[in-house]
Amino acid sequence: MTDTLIVLNATELLTLKGPRMARVRQEMSDLGIILDGALAVEGGVITAVGTTEAIKREFDATGVDRVDASRKVVMPGLVDPHTHLVFAGSREFEIEMKVRGKTYMEIMQDGGGIHRTMRDTRAASAADLYAQSAKRLRSMIAHGTTTVEIKSGYGLDRTTELRMLEVARKLGGDLPVDVVPTFLGAHAVPEEFRGDPDGYVALIVNEMIPAVREQGIARFCDVFCEQGVFSIAQTRRILQAARSAGLQLKLHADEVHDLGGAGLAAELKAVSADHLLAASDENIARMAQAGVVASLLPATAYSLRKPYARARRMIRGGVPVALASDCNPGSSYTESMPFVFGLAVMQMDLSPLEALTAVTLNAAYALSMAERVGSLDPGKQADFLLLDGESPAILAYHAGVSPVTAVYKRGELAAGREDP
Ligand SMILES: [Zn+2]
Repeated sequence: MTDTLIVLNATELLTLKGPRMARVRQEMSDLGIILDGALAVEGGVITAVGTTEAIKREFDATGVDRVDASRKVVMPGLVDPHTHLVFAGSREFEIEMKVRGKTYMEIMQDGGGIHRTMRDTRAASAADLYAQSAKRLRSMIAHGTTTVEIKSGYGLDRTTELRMLEVARKLGGDLPVDVVPTFLGAHAVPEEFRGDPDGYVALIVNEMIPAVREQGIARFCDVFCEQGVFSIAQTRRILQAARSAGLQLKLHADEVHDLGGAGLAAELKAVSADHLLAASDENIARMAQAGVVASLLPATAYSLRKPYARARRMIRGGVPVALASDCNPGSSYTESMPFVFGLAVMQMDLSPLEALTAVTLNAAYALSMAERVGSLDPGKQADFLLLDGESPAILAYHAGVSPVTAVYKRGELAAGREDP
């Protein structure tokens, strides 16, 4: 029993146990809370959850490691299903432009925005890209993220896209976090293809996707489907090629304009459609019917100073809602899922219980990772957090700071701080 760890005395233990499917409507409020809760871990896997009394009776013995969670909430590790964490450089100077009223598209059309990050990322060595990204990933882990999706998409050429995916893979191997890599060659049309976007789409389909398949790292393919970026027809072409190459599908859909990306996600049965600030009622209904997870990114709306996605409408309509940071150098520079949680509650009217489901179990479904992470179910990885609070509401209540005091990945302490 030397490999056994027990966590005892949690004020609330949020298990999210239940049927093995993404949560919709009122199911999002059912966290399977155990008062005075405890859990047992063996070999990095959860073996039991229950009351402190029950877990002590069954598992307490000499040689067992104990964690005292008195006056703490214990919850599943946070899952961040949409990030652009791997990039080089900084666009701090754009804050001033935004405050003066320039839009994201205007900054991009002026040759700033994503094209600037593309140049910095292409110029960075793999070692430099790794070092800059690892710093951010350590910060994410300290804020409670134990599973994270990372997209390529700042290379926009075959070599750099593959390098970004390799950096993502290496980060996941080196740090205590599960990394899910996504190929996003269709993040923007690079300057060398300005005026010939179909030429770039052909390059993605004919050269990049086969190379990504051969490299064997990416699990998803994503497309920035947006007016002035990739059309519905171009997006469909890329995603169909990706599916044939064995990749699962995601879309940046209806972020700025209602182009019908949410409807395309439903048609293609994508795993998730993300952003959705401008998605129509009709396409939200189609997503619900097709079981597509909506990954909402409130830190992006915050940073772009735009209205938030209509989360209540989606929940009412039966769409499984997840939340993500969208961590990227332009429209949402944050590693903090507690910040995202607070925005979702305060600005999108999610209840703390709904938001908790959206940052754990539903986010795991947005990455097809729910078999292993997202809830404290026996048989799943022992990825869990201790929060300095009485309930999950602390994540919204204590604004601008992180109430996460300890982060466990597969039963091992990955980050933590002492409470006074
Ligand atoms: Zn994004």
